[in-house]
Amino acid sequence: MKNNENFPNWGISLEEIPLEGLNFAFEDLSDFGKDLKVLKPFSGNLKLIKRGFEVVVEGHISGSVELSCDRCLENFEYNIDEDFKVLLLPKNTLNLQEEKELTSEDLEVSFYESSFISFFNILQEEIFLALPYRNLCKENCKGLCPHCGTNLNAETCECFKIKKGSPFAVLKNLINTKEKNL
Ligand SMILES: [Zn+2]
Ligand SMILES: [Zn+2]
Repeated sequence: MKNNENFPNWGISLEEIPLEGLNFAFEDLSDFGKDLKVLKPFSGNLKLIKRGFEVVVEGHISGSVELSCDRCLENFEYNIDEDFKVLLLPKNTLNLQEEKELTSEDLEVSFYESSFISFFNILQEEIFLALPYRNLCKENCKGLCPHCGTNLNAETCECFKIKKGSPFAVLKNLINTKEKNL
């Protein structure tokens, strides 16, 4: 499968999944919608096993996306290299209570509609799940100076330096004395 205008419709109907299962590799996928800027196109494999109306999907996906750092706002590359296993259930056969019980189990649960298993949706969901909770270009990113906006990873600014003889210097001495006495 390569990117083309049919990519979002890439998938298989339930009836088409053979009894012995389906196993295939994919590569060079980069168009997962405008919310994901792909830097290294995604490749990996998918394995589908059908059990009645349930489908177990196992796979691996690797590639990278561009994220924007929450602290310094610089763009950075985020690598994704994930194994996953999802249980797919038909959407319309479940009531809310059943959905609740299923999703509280360890296994990741997702739903398919109209007997169609969308490979596009499965992979897109896995990419979003693999994204970090907080976007940080590096763990110890110093961020931007809240006063002048300097990127403190690259440069320093004078905003919060304490000048000799200023009222803040006196305050600093007081704090130092206090710390010594503790
Ligand atoms: Zn940063
Ligand atoms: Zn500053």
